[in-house]
Amino acid sequence: MQWETVIGLEVHVQLATRSKIFSGASTAFGAEPNTQACAVDLGLPGVLPVLNEQAVAMAVQFGLGIHAEIPEVSVFDRKNYFYPDLPKGYQTSQMYEPIVGPGEVEILLEDGERKTVRVHHAHLEEDAGKSLHEDFHGMTGIDLNRAGTPLLEIVSEPDMRSAKEAAAYLKAIHSIVTYLGISDGNMAEGSMRCDVNVSVRPRGQEAFGTRAEIKNVNSFRFVERAIEFEVERQIELLEDGGTVVQETRLYDPEADETRSMRTKEEANDYRYFPCPDLLPVVLDQAYVDHLRGQLPELPAAKRERFQGELGLSAYDAGVLSASRAMAEYFERVHAVCGDAKQAANWVQGELSGALNREGLAIVDSPVSADQLGGLIVRVLDDTINGKAAKQVFQALWHGEGGDEHNSADAIIEAKGLKQVTDTGAIEAMIDQVIADSPAQVAQYRDAEPDKRGKMIGYFVGQVMKASRGTANPQQVNALLKEKLDALC
Ligand code: ADP
Ligand code: MG
Repeated sequence: MQWETVIGLEVHVQLATRSKIFSGASTAFGAEPNTQACAVDLGLPGVLPVLNEQAVAMAVQFGLGIHAEIPEVSVFDRKNYFYPDLPKGYQTSQMYEPIVGPGEVEILLEDGERKTVRVHHAHLEEDAGKSLHEDFHGMTGIDLNRAGTPLLEIVSEPDMRSAKEAAAYLKAIHSIVTYLGISDGNMAEGSMRCDVNVSVRPRGQEAFGTRAEIKNVNSFRFVERAIEFEVERQIELLEDGGTVVQETRLYDPEADETRSMRTKEEANDYRYFPCPDLLPVVLDQAYVDHLRGQLPELPAAKRERFQGELGLSAYDAGVLSASRAMAEYFERVHAVCGDAKQAANWVQGELSGALNREGLAIVDSPVSADQLGGLIVRVLDDTINGKAAKQVFQALWHGEGGDEHNSADAIIEAKGLKQVTDTGAIEAMIDQVIADSPAQVAQYRDAEPDKRGKMIGYFVGQVMKASRGTANPQQVNALLKEKLDALC
């Protein structure tokens, strides 16, 4: 039997507001436990929540970024349950009338193919606190700093058909929220986590299979791994004549497996009802239009433009637009050197290679975009050859260029890397090499004419060495061939 995987994601994005969604307490990461939860976050009597306008604006910006409908009215509901890290006894969320209606996200697959994933809706809610199970022998510690942190939960339709598609979707969401600046997207700190719903069905069957929901997966890689394990588990179960039960599972990265946590609860278990402490949110058209006017160019539009206007390949355009920092760096290099293809090659090649080797993010690159652009200018105008350019790059990387805009020029000057294109000078070097290599010249002369092309490499190497890498390689090749053939 051929099986098809069906995946829907619920992504929780922590919004980058400075204070909480219903109180003035700070949302800064890493504070001492329980120093950033105020009376509102703790659910003490005599206090009322006040909605953070910034959180509303960010949610709407996201909605506009995925071409979603923005309903005029949205409503906060209470989701009631008991847990030690939820002091109020309910989570304020949006169950029935979310702030963002249906929209869509374009994802880019590895083969360059594109696919649209529909978003069912996105809603605002508050985060809970954190239970700390280590360090408290036989007890659980509770840190309520995170309680009340604004979250945007983005719920997809079950449109994804593989682990790779799910990871690509999560990457697309990550890139949209970081372009918009509405989240820092830091997955290690929990700023983005997702619940992964997975089911399988016989290929060709229309009805979906029963799904399992894997809670709180917090990296792109874990999303893929968790899905791969879960698909395998469900298929095995079904092929052995069993049935999949709808349940909540947990992914354990150490064991690389998912385990059952609890059977699935229903919406009515939570006794949802509209929060009497908060008014419905009413957004007028002018407010939404104002936010629309402030949207930056988003990754999909950038990718299109890099491909269409700048003539980059689909792959290059995808890589260079994936993160805002990368796109901004590339665009600056392009602005300085004026050649998109060269800018793309250098950013993805020499620069990315060096950044990866040292585990640096592009914002921490020791070589600025202006410096790299300046270097490319000197390759384009033939001041230096490709080999020297790599030397200049290394020097810039190690801070030898200073901060000046023309720092590549300073290095070229100081190291004497200017390309030699003077025919007379190159000919003199060639004559010297030929005079010093009688044995190789004899071999060349005795070789079959069609073997000589290969043998010329030795001489090119010697001449380049004599010029300390600065001779123009094309000229060296052409002149050498002439001179050697004249000897035959
Ligand atoms: P619930 O209210 O129980 O959370 P929803 O209908 O809101 O369920 O769906 C939650 C998520 O599960 C959505 O992202 C949706 O796309 C996904 N989903 C629903 N049914 C399936 C299925 N059969 N297989 C995979 N994903 C599914
Ligand atoms: Mg759900």
